[in-house]
Amino acid sequence: MDAVLPPHTVFDGHNDTLVDLCFPEPGKDRSFLERSDHGHLDLPRALEGHFGGGFFAICVPPSPTTRGFLDSDLVLTETGYEMPLPPPLDQAYAQRMTISVMASLFRLEMQSGGKIRVVRAAKELASCLRQGVIAVVLHFEGAEAIDLELDALYVFHAAGLRSVGIVWSRPNAFATGVPFKFPGSPDTGPGLSERGKELVRACNRLGIMLDLAHLNEQGFWDVAGLSDAPLVVTHTAAHALCPSTRNLADKQLDAVGASGGVVGVAFHVGNLRADGRQEADTPIAEIVRHIDYIAGRIGIEHVALGSDFDGAVMPLEMGDVTGLPRLIEALRGHGYDDAALRKVAHENWLRLLDRTWKP
Ligand SMILES: [Zn+2]
Repeated sequence: MDAVLPPHTVFDGHNDTLVDLCFPEPGKDRSFLERSDHGHLDLPRALEGHFGGGFFAICVPPSPTTRGFLDSDLVLTETGYEMPLPPPLDQAYAQRMTISVMASLFRLEMQSGGKIRVVRAAKELASCLRQGVIAVVLHFEGAEAIDLELDALYVFHAAGLRSVGIVWSRPNAFATGVPFKFPGSPDTGPGLSERGKELVRACNRLGIMLDLAHLNEQGFWDVAGLSDAPLVVTHTAAHALCPSTRNLADKQLDAVGASGGVVGVAFHVGNLRADGRQEADTPIAEIVRHIDYIAGRIGIEHVALGSDFDGAVMPLEMGDVTGLPRLIEALRGHGYDDAALRKVAHENWLRLLDRTWKP
């Protein structure tokens, strides 16, 4: 990394904006290039919030008209909630949908007149951040679009895929995700299949980052034992502070730190609050509490941001991407100096991708 960026420049670990743009809820159509009242992230608001770029996820919805991932099948219990694992997706359907979202991303890149760029190398990412061009890392949240022979992985990599989450919270041919549950342990089921292990090896060979968000604990340990890259969980939080199945147990945090990896802290209120409640009236201080805990446990080099914009319930105080400077100021007020803020806001992600991607 040559030039130093301002401490408020954010490179973010996760958003669901592409899918939100492609399959909007009725009446909530929008363009990424224009400011909208809907959703959390678009170009004008990104620039206002000093959002320099991030992982843009493709998570295939069960059908083009079904979004509602977070609340559709949620069952409230006495102490929290649970949601059974949704059924697996058909692979051909998932691939068709993924290609359609990728096409819309590449069209958006062309229409943006140089304001947005799909980045494929660490140097290209750093140069976008310096120039104020929004850097898009193409990420699959769930590997359903990839066939068992992994042919599609090579084709998608050639097209720009640089990050793969093995699962979303559902089973697929490679592994099983965690069901959404509070309170609950992330140790919810079987680990990687043989095909899943092949996928890990192939991603290592290609220099595709593996994301362990949504993966159950056994799957996490299978990847930890197999992968030759630093471990990454793009959007999660600390189980010790909020015992949701989606959050990482202390020993998982320790393993990420020991591997030289990165944990992105998500802003979803239900995975931050000690009571697990999905209430937007939750202060930004809850995000700071998780960043603090993870930095204290495994080091400031290993914690970053993974907002989950357009995929989660944001704290009201954050609102949307324009609230990012308020988080940076909250961290500063909590004793983070410029050097520490740079690490959390972007440097840790840049170092990780520089180590993981092939040049
Ligand atoms: Zn997610």
